[in-house]
Amino acid sequence: MSSGFNRRALIRGGIGATAAAGVGLGIPHLASAGQSDKAPTPARKAAGAKAAPEPRIHSTAEWGARPPNGQIDILDRTPLQIVVHHTAEPGNSEDYSLEHAKKICRDIQNFHMDGRGWGDSGQQFTNSRGGHILEGRHHSLDSVRAGNKHVVGANVGGHNSDVIGIENEGIYVDVDVPQALWDSLVDLVAWIAVRYSRPVSDIMGHRDFNSTECPGTVLYGRLQELRDAVAGAIGVARVTAPDVWPLLRPDAVNAQVRAAQHLLRAKGFNDVGTTGVFDAATKRAVVRLTETHSIEQHTCSAAYHSTTDETGYLGSDIWPLITPKVAPGDNKDVAAAVDTMRRAGSKHTLSGREALGSTDWKRLLA
Ligand SMILES: [Zn+2]
Repeated sequence: MSSGFNRRALIRGGIGATAAAGVGLGIPHLASAGQSDKAPTPARKAAGAKAAPEPRIHSTAEWGARPPNGQIDILDRTPLQIVVHHTAEPGNSEDYSLEHAKKICRDIQNFHMDGRGWGDSGQQFTNSRGGHILEGRHHSLDSVRAGNKHVVGANVGGHNSDVIGIENEGIYVDVDVPQALWDSLVDLVAWIAVRYSRPVSDIMGHRDFNSTECPGTVLYGRLQELRDAVAGAIGVARVTAPDVWPLLRPDAVNAQVRAAQHLLRAKGFNDVGTTGVFDAATKRAVVRLTETHSIEQHTCSAAYHSTTDETGYLGSDIWPLITPKVAPGDNKDVAAAVDTMRRAGSKHTLSGREALGSTDWKRLLA
């Protein structure tokens, strides 16, 4: 997780009262400084997209946000991906009121500022189980309205300059989201996609970047449905589902684990057995890789006392480190990993002579 702020931060001039306290005005190289917030530039549309109406979004002022501690970094460009999260904690409340949604925002902001030491809420937007949409980090709302500004948040380790994150209240590991949350998520993502001219293929889950459960297996499993729903809402063609890395958790038992174990051995972790059981030695190897490559551990748990320990999870930021670009015939451990997935039913065809790319590996491991 990158820190929420850095010192080459920019602050939009005149962005609103919430910016005034605790934030020094930054380096004025922001092209549109002084431009009225009430007169956003015309929407730049995703190719062929019709306008998506702005859903009702409750601003930081409306939910009683604290002023940020430090400068907010606003880039003069759009983010590249729209990322779906779940808050995990405090769980799946049955209070669907707007007041509850506002309280969630205050709790998350307090946790991110006091518990994690960030300058403000990590996410750009929060979506409640009651279907209420709220601004997260200050200036996110005006930046999306502008269509060409990106408030750098803190919600996807290593990628915060490129992503805009939506925290969905609740935990969706084995239960589905409420319909109201789903509907408001579609509305919000459609609006962001049109404002930023992003194709629906840029709608991703937190898990597509970091080794985390977030946004929960059930919600993650609906991302293609979300892409389709947004495509329908804004009138663009549907896209095929992207190839993605699987998420493996300690104690898992399957062919993907066995393939990973062969790949870890290819990487020099010779104490890892190829049992197909995600055991302690496998977890140690993954943790070692995390440390060696300074990969930030990140869980989206929005509470002080997280019950979620994602140490040793093997996901999107680990696979690229252990899937070498070699031909299977050039390394016996790599060949064994490929063979493991073949025997598990992978139909992905390889030439056999060419070096494997990340798409090959994703399809083999699917
Ligand atoms: Zn997340």
